[in-house]
Amino acid sequence: MFANIIIDISHEKLDRTFQYIIPEEMKEQIHAGMEVLIPFGNGNRMIKGYVLEITDVPAFDIDKMKQVFQISKNSMQIESHLIALAGWIKENYGGTMIQALKTVIPVKQKIKSKEKRSLVLLLEDQKANEQLELYIKKKNKARERLLRELIRTKELDYELATSQLHISSSVIKAFVEQEIVKIESTKIYRNPVLANQKDDLKITLNKEQQYIVDSIVDDFNNKKKKTYLIHGITGSGKTEVYIHLIQEAVNNGKQAIVLIPEISLTYQTVMRFYKHFGSRVSIINSKLSSGERYDQFERAKNGELDVMIGPRSALFTPFSNLGFIIIDEEHEGSYKSETVPKYHARETAIERARMSGASVVLGSATPSIDSYYKALEGEYELYSLNKRTSDSALPTVEIVDLRDELKAGNRSILSIRLRECIQDRLDKKEQIMLFINRRGYAGFVSCRACGHVMKCPNCDVSLSAHNNGKLICHYCGYDEKMVKQCPTCGSKYIGGFRAGTQQIEEIVQKEYPQAKVLRMDMDTTKSKDGHEKILSAFANGEADILIGTQMIVKGHDFPNVTLVGVLAADLSLYSNDYHASERTFQLLTQAAGRAGRGEKKGEVVIQTYSPKHYSITSSRNQNYKEFYEQEISYRGIAGYPPVSNMLAILISSDKEELAQQGAWLLKKRMDEMQLSNTVVIGPSDCTIAKVNNIYKKVIYIKQKKYETLIQVKNSMEQYIDMNDKYKNVNVQFDFNPMNTY
Ligand code: ADP
Ligand code: ZN
Ligand code: ZN
Repeated sequence: MFANIIIDISHEKLDRTFQYIIPEEMKEQIHAGMEVLIPFGNGNRMIKGYVLEITDVPAFDIDKMKQVFQISKNSMQIESHLIALAGWIKENYGGTMIQALKTVIPVKQKIKSKEKRSLVLLLEDQKANEQLELYIKKKNKARERLLRELIRTKELDYELATSQLHISSSVIKAFVEQEIVKIESTKIYRNPVLANQKDDLKITLNKEQQYIVDSIVDDFNNKKKKTYLIHGITGSGKTEVYIHLIQEAVNNGKQAIVLIPEISLTYQTVMRFYKHFGSRVSIINSKLSSGERYDQFERAKNGELDVMIGPRSALFTPFSNLGFIIIDEEHEGSYKSETVPKYHARETAIERARMSGASVVLGSATPSIDSYYKALEGEYELYSLNKRTSDSALPTVEIVDLRDELKAGNRSILSIRLRECIQDRLDKKEQIMLFINRRGYAGFVSCRACGHVMKCPNCDVSLSAHNNGKLICHYCGYDEKMVKQCPTCGSKYIGGFRAGTQQIEEIVQKEYPQAKVLRMDMDTTKSKDGHEKILSAFANGEADILIGTQMIVKGHDFPNVTLVGVLAADLSLYSNDYHASERTFQLLTQAAGRAGRGEKKGEVVIQTYSPKHYSITSSRNQNYKEFYEQEISYRGIAGYPPVSNMLAILISSDKEELAQQGAWLLKKRMDEMQLSNTVVIGPSDCTIAKVNNIYKKVIYIKQKKYETLIQVKNSMEQYIDMNDKYKNVNVQFDFNPMNTY
C-alpha cells in the first residue's frame, strides 16, 4: 500500500504529490486527509505532509521509495477535514483528486492592497432627514433609497451601494458634489460589510418559528446531528429561524456557514445577518477576486469570524468548530457545480457536517423534490412554516387557457384578460412585470388548438425540433419526422413556440404606446452593471412595465408591482428534461411572489396551453404537497431521481469518430458488467452535439442504488485510464444531473 502525499497545500502546489510506502503497522489507521511526517529530500529531513490518496499502484520503483515515518498527533486539523472532504467528493462525483482539492482549497495569491471605497454621511441627522423629505417629495427614488440607508448606517460600502441598493454612480457623484457624503478609501482589505453597526433588534419568534428553533437547539445540545428541512412560504420567517440557530451555535463557541444563491444575496438579507453578528460575519460572492476570497477564508481560519455567507463555494470555509450549515433556497440549481467535480453543495454539506459534528438546515418555499422525498423517507427531519409573519395576503392567481384565445380569434401572445389587467394597472399608475420563461426551452412542439405536445414514447419528455426537419429525444436519441398536423385534433396550428423577450417588447409597446417599457434579458444585461441599471430604473418608477426572463422573478422586491403576467407557462413545462414540472412549479410560485409585496394586493395571470397540468394548477394556491404527490409518482414510474438514481457519462472529443468509439466502448463495458436492475440509455448525441468543434455524446444510466453507480464510475475511470483509445477523448461523470446534456 502506498500513500500519495502533498507537502504544501497552497493552491499552486497541489499538482505535485510524492509517493511513500505505508508501513505495515500504519495500514489500519491511515486515511486520506491525515497529517503525516515524512523524510524528505537528500538529507531526509522530517517534514509534514498530508495524505491525499491511498493506492496499491506504485508510481515508481519500490526499492527507491521511502516510508511514511509517523502519523501526526494533531491529525484532525481543518486541513485534514477539507482534504478528506475532497476525497469524498472525488469518490462520489468523479474527476481527479487534484480537481477535488482545488474545489475545496482556496487560491492563495498575493493580495494587492486593493482600494476599498466607502460612503460616509456628512450631514447631521436632522439635516439629513430634511433632505430625505425633499427627495420623497420630488419622487427621487434612488436618492431617497441611498440617503435612507445612510441615515441608518452612517457609512456604507461603495460596492454594496451600487450593486445591492441599485444606486448608479451618477447619484453618488451628485451626493459628493452636494457634500452629503464623502468617499473614503482604505488601502487594506477590509470586511465587505462594515464593522460599526451591530444593533440589537430583537424579534420575538412566533409559535411556529419557536417550535422549530427549540427542537433543533434541543438536538444540538444533546449532540444529535441531523439534517433538517424547513418548508416555509416566502415571508414566513425562515431567515429569522436561521439567525436564532446561528446565535445558539455562536453562544456555544461554534461557527456557521450560510449558503444563499448569489442572485438572492440582496443587500437586505446580508444586512439582517450583519445586524446580529456585526463584524463576526463575512460574505463572499463572485465579485470578490480569488485573493479576496482567500483573505476571507484566512480570517475564518484565524477565528476572526463566526458566520460566513455566500454561494456554493462558501461551503468550504475553513471553520474549525462548525455548528451549523444552513442552505437557503435549497432547491436552487446553482448549488450543483457545472464543472468537474460536479458536486452538489447540499449532499457535500451533509458530508462535511457529518465529518465535523455539525447539523444541516435546508430551507425553501418550494423544496426540491429530492429533499422533500428524503424528508418523507425520514432521512431529513421536516418542519413547516405555513403563515406569513406580516398580514400581507398572498396574491390571487388566475389561469388563462390560451387555447380558448385561439378559438376566440385572438392570436396575440397577450390574452384578453391580461390586456384588461395591464390597462387597469397603467391607469392606476401601478407597475407590471411580464415574465417569459425561456429556461430549458429547447424547441418543443405543441398544438395551439388543443395543447398536445410531441413527446418521446420511451422517456416521457418533450421532443425537440431540429433544423433537419426532425423531432429528437435528447435522452435516448429517438427521432421522428416533424409533423404538419396535430396527431390529436388535426389542427394545423402545430409548431415550435417562438416568442422571445424582444418580440414581446415590440408587441407590448405597440399595444400600449403610452407605457414606458423596460426589457431585461441576456442582451440588455450584457454591459457591465446592465443588470443593476435596469432594476434600479424600474425600482425608481422610471418604467411601467418590466419584461424579462427568469432573471426578473428572483429575489427582487418592488412594492409597486401589483400585476405579474406569465406569458407562456408551458415553455418550461415541456423542456426536454425530467425536472421540467418541478422548475415550472418553482418559477410560477416565485413569479407569484413578486406581486403584491407592498400594501396593495397583487394579482397574477398565468397564460398556458395546459391549464390542467398539475404544476400549474398546484401553483395557483401554492399547494406544494399536491404538486409533490403528482411529481413523485411520475418520477417513480419513469425511474427518475430521487426514486431512482441517474448517472450521465459525457464523452467528448474533437474527432467525432473518437467520441463515438469512446462512447460505444463504455456502453459495451456496461453490458459486460451485467448489473441487474440497471437501465442504460444511449449513447446518443448531446442536445448541442458539437460545441467549438468538440463532439459530445452522452450515456444515461438509471439504477436505484447510488453506490452501484459509484462502482460503475470507478470501473469506467480505471478502464479509461488504461485504454489508449481515450487519449484524445474526455470523459466526465455527472450524478443525478440537473440538466439534460
Ligand atoms: P423568509 O426567510 O421565510 O422569507 P423572513 O425571515 O425574511 O422570511 O421574514 C419575513 C419578514 O418578517 C422579515 O421582514 C422579518 O424581519 C419579519 N419577521 C420574521 N419573523 C418575525 C416575527 N416573529 N415577528 C415579526 N416579524 C417577523
Ligand atoms: Zn391539437
Ligand atoms: Zn427518449
